[in-house]
Amino acid sequence: MNRTVNGIVIREKPLGEKGKLLYVLTQYEGVIAVKATGAKNISASYLKSAQLFAYSELNIYDKNKHFTLTEAKLIESFYDLRKDVSDFALASYICELALLTAVPSDDGILRLVLNCLYALSKNLSGRDTIKAVFEYRLCLCLGLEPDFSGCTICGEKGNLFDFEESALFCAECAPDAERCISLDEKAVEALNYLNTCPPGKILSFSIKGEPEAAFCRFCEDYLINAADLKPATLDYYKQTIKDD
Ligand SMILES: [Zn+2]
Repeated sequence: MNRTVNGIVIREKPLGEKGKLLYVLTQYEGVIAVKATGAKNISASYLKSAQLFAYSELNIYDKNKHFTLTEAKLIESFYDLRKDVSDFALASYICELALLTAVPSDDGILRLVLNCLYALSKNLSGRDTIKAVFEYRLCLCLGLEPDFSGCTICGEKGNLFDFEESALFCAECAPDAERCISLDEKAVEALNYLNTCPPGKILSFSIKGEPEAAFCRFCEDYLINAADLKPATLDYYKQTIKDD
């Protein structure tokens, strides 16, 4: 059966001498593995779509869930992300997280990946902020949504986050203030904003200086603690930032 899917290549592996096995994050089917037998042929009609980070409308031949690419229409190549080692490392980290978490029938993660790669390719925000927004919104896609509207007990302003309870507390209500991390007020505001903003507005907030650093640290810690995810590409990204 021939059919069409929209998707982005989030990993590729060599397949024979001239082919590739593409791992495609799709709109409604999670991640599927698609054989592109002539992907390395310069004359292949789908050459540009059979590349890492390429987002395309793919025509695939589906034989009992074994997929072969027959044709493709490129929508966005994100090719420039390969030209800068830190951009490449961050895009790879985003794609690895998507590979670990994507599930069928939910296009939230695909939209998040596309929005973040677009922002990265257009320098719409700093790399670390894009990384943090991706990490935090991914946790929301996975159903892990802490309440940042106020202290979980009294509802007043709070800035102490307890990873064990996965909740925000004020200084009076925190069960164990020492094990909490202290968040800047601006960081709490940004997280509260991200809990409710629409997918296309995930970078429409402003945070700078130390609050931004605290926000970025929190998002990474939250992903590691709450979602229990720490892909190998995280260390690679950090290494490229250090060398920058
Ligand atoms: Zn309280």
